[in-house]
Amino acid sequence: MLSFELCEPHTLEDAFDLLGHDDPGVRPMGGGTALMLMMKAQMFKPMRLVSLRRIAPFSGLALSEDGARLRIGAMATFSEIEHSDVVRRHFPAVVQAMKTLANVRVRNVASVGGNLAHADPHLDLPPLWMAHDATARLVSKNGERVIPVAEIFRGYYETSISDGELISEICVPLREGWRSTYAKITTRAIHDWPALGIAVSLQLEGGVVRDLRIVLSAALDKPTRLRAAEEVLRGGEVDEVRLRRAGEAAVAEVEIHSDSRGSASYKNHLLRVHLARALQSVIGG
Ligand SMILES: Cc1cc2nc3c(=O)[nH]c(=O)nc-3n(C[C@H](O)[C@H](O)[C@H](O)COP(=O)(O)OP(=O)(O)OC[C@H]3O[C@@H](n4cnc5c(N)ncnc54)[C@H](O)[C@@H]3O)c2cc1C
Repeated sequence: MLSFELCEPHTLEDAFDLLGHDDPGVRPMGGGTALMLMMKAQMFKPMRLVSLRRIAPFSGLALSEDGARLRIGAMATFSEIEHSDVVRRHFPAVVQAMKTLANVRVRNVASVGGNLAHADPHLDLPPLWMAHDATARLVSKNGERVIPVAEIFRGYYETSISDGELISEICVPLREGWRSTYAKITTRAIHDWPALGIAVSLQLEGGVVRDLRIVLSAALDKPTRLRAAEEVLRGGEVDEVRLRRAGEAAVAEVEIHSDSRGSASYKNHLLRVHLARALQSVIGG
């Protein structure tokens, strides 16, 4: 039987003290859902887990005073987000994504911060935060820094979060006239991990795409902006020809590998088809 210490500090200072050991067995804990899986698989043997759930500044979710952005504490759970009226009103695609994300038991405890720090490329929320231009606040004993969520991801389970740094919150700007969607494409069962995740956010004016973000996840080592596909669509109307060209540009700009969820050529085909569908659904919505 594995024995380890579970600490629940009330202040950030205490958390840093408890985490300040040069031991890979000492880790911060959000909801613990990813950590528990790693422990069961014996990939991670904890010496001490430091839960962040009692640290007040890490919790809650609310609009900023000027109403320009939504602040989500790192310990906000997926269920809090799913049932938040503010999120439903301003970011319906995030609520939509929750419907096929894990199950209620996981959503009740999994946290926004733990989800980002885990950096599994198959996760459903990181591409959505990226498509919404969200930023993350990282705090450490030495101060804090705010970076685009996109800059957290370095590669397969690899992040730019330094030892001793914690994600304390993310901020999602409310962008006038933008709409978004997320397509989770599974090739086995509906609740399986995606073979592809496609997040799209777009600003439409009189039928013309003023600006947009397209982020592809699951099929690559990290969630990735599809800038060439965006370029095809920016400044024009979305018609059949542009959709086809955007699909081709998307396939050309990334190198998708084969895995247990499909061959590279099959996933390239899925990308062409589902990118067009995602764009059509945002424009129609
Ligand atoms: C049965 C099951 C099904 C799932 N299905 C899906 C799915 O369909 N789609 C999907 O997207 N995800 C799915 N997940 C994954 C789930 O989203 C992640 O396990 C979850 O997001 C991790 O969040 P957590 O708070 O539990 O992280 P934890 O397990 O607590 O931590 C994960 C990692 O982040 C670190 N960490 C935690 N908090 C912080 C912080 N604030 N700052 C810095 N580092 C931190 C930890 O040290 C650890 O390394 C599933 C998980 C399970 C168990």
